[in-house]
Amino acid sequence: MREIQLHNTLSGKLEPFVPQKPGEVRMYTCGPTVYDYAHIGNYRTFVFQDMLRRFLKLRGFQLTHVMNLTDVDDRIIANAAAAGKDIRGYTEKFVQAFFEDCKTLSIEAPEHWIRATDHIDDMVKLIQRLQEKTFTYSSEGSIYYRIAKFPNYGKLSKIDLTGIQAGARVDNDRYEKESARDFALWKAPKPGEHFWQTAIGPGRPGWHVECSAMAMKYLGETLDIHTGGIDLAFPHHENEIAQSEAATGKPFARYWLHAEHLLVDGEKMSKSLGNFFTLRDLFAKGYKPSAVRLALASVPYRKQLNFTFNSLRQAASGIERLRNFADRLQQGKFPAGKTEGMAARIVQAEQEFDEGLADDLNTARALAAAHELMRVANVAMDKDEFLQGDVAPARQFLATFDKVFAVLEDNDAQKLQALGYDSVQAGLSDVEIEKLIADRTAAKKMRDFAAADRIRKELAERGIILEDTKDGTVRWKRK
Ligand SMILES: [Zn+2]
Repeated sequence: MREIQLHNTLSGKLEPFVPQKPGEVRMYTCGPTVYDYAHIGNYRTFVFQDMLRRFLKLRGFQLTHVMNLTDVDDRIIANAAAAGKDIRGYTEKFVQAFFEDCKTLSIEAPEHWIRATDHIDDMVKLIQRLQEKTFTYSSEGSIYYRIAKFPNYGKLSKIDLTGIQAGARVDNDRYEKESARDFALWKAPKPGEHFWQTAIGPGRPGWHVECSAMAMKYLGETLDIHTGGIDLAFPHHENEIAQSEAATGKPFARYWLHAEHLLVDGEKMSKSLGNFFTLRDLFAKGYKPSAVRLALASVPYRKQLNFTFNSLRQAASGIERLRNFADRLQQGKFPAGKTEGMAARIVQAEQEFDEGLADDLNTARALAAAHELMRVANVAMDKDEFLQGDVAPARQFLATFDKVFAVLEDNDAQKLQALGYDSVQAGLSDVEIEKLIADRTAAKKMRDFAAADRIRKELAERGIILEDTKDGTVRWKRK
């Protein structure tokens, strides 16, 4: 079996993956900051780390995987205070939504879901260790990390440190690139905001120290893999390294894996551009969870993913074909016997699938292996050249495929119902489109142009382009 290669942000290279203990992987993923519903850009990262953990398990590794819920953060503290709620009261809705979303996207639960609010003591202890080693200083009730004392600062993100001023400080959890500065480990309380009374004084932890403390508590001082979105590499992960390695004197994480950005229609997703989507926005438009998962999963994680409604429709139709193929294998009647040719094609597909994933989790290659086998087998079936003895190995391949991709089970309708959506429409049928066009024409006749425009817009969102012709009829096509 081919050795697994992973791209390590730390070295900037592909490296063979060798965990510290043979057969065991200790992995940490920075989870969501639960001050809002997570968006599809976040889920790109979470689907990626899910595919990675599923592949490692398929390869027989025993996983200890930790994902945190960041429920202590500038925005949470401020929003909770503004809403007059305590932290748990404010975040609970978003935590539950996140768990539901993960389930809906078939993202496996990690071995440990943990929350920052349950680990304040561990964070305080880590800060004390850093204090003892004089990596810190205090100012106005806050405690800062002195980055000038950590010579390897910048080794992950390769940030340019020339011109940084010793003692220039930053309090925000999220600060801009190109501004490496001493960052807050512990923040003095602000009037009206939540704080903890601790051995290092009243206040609350900074975001970066949360992940260092929680990761090391569950996974030991050196992790095998640390994952996250690329936007976390600096400053968040850089600061995690600085804190953990200064405290322990050991490497913090051996492999750093970062998922690239997600774009929508080629542009950065933002609320002001109107191209910002949560999962629920997509489900409300009638898209299936499995299609969303596959659209996010099918682009290798180190490539930018350009998310479009067309890519969702393509994913939905790809799943449809795979599910039909699985049904055909299960229900079809095939001539007796077994063909050497088909057996070899199935072995080839298995190898290609495994090698694709071993090649830095090249999900596109693994997916193509499944589609290629399906194509060849369907052709053989049509010619009665696919035999009964080929069924079991082909089904075995699909089962292996689905251990990582997790899209074959036909359970979209149940999942959506569980979230309160009553219908599933991956795309509109011709009849549905004609019906909406007739409604629009009727609305125009009634001079209800607002209604007519709404219908045109809805169709456009579902990928249907209308063209009004001179003779008054309407032509339409799929985008
Ligand atoms: Zn983190």
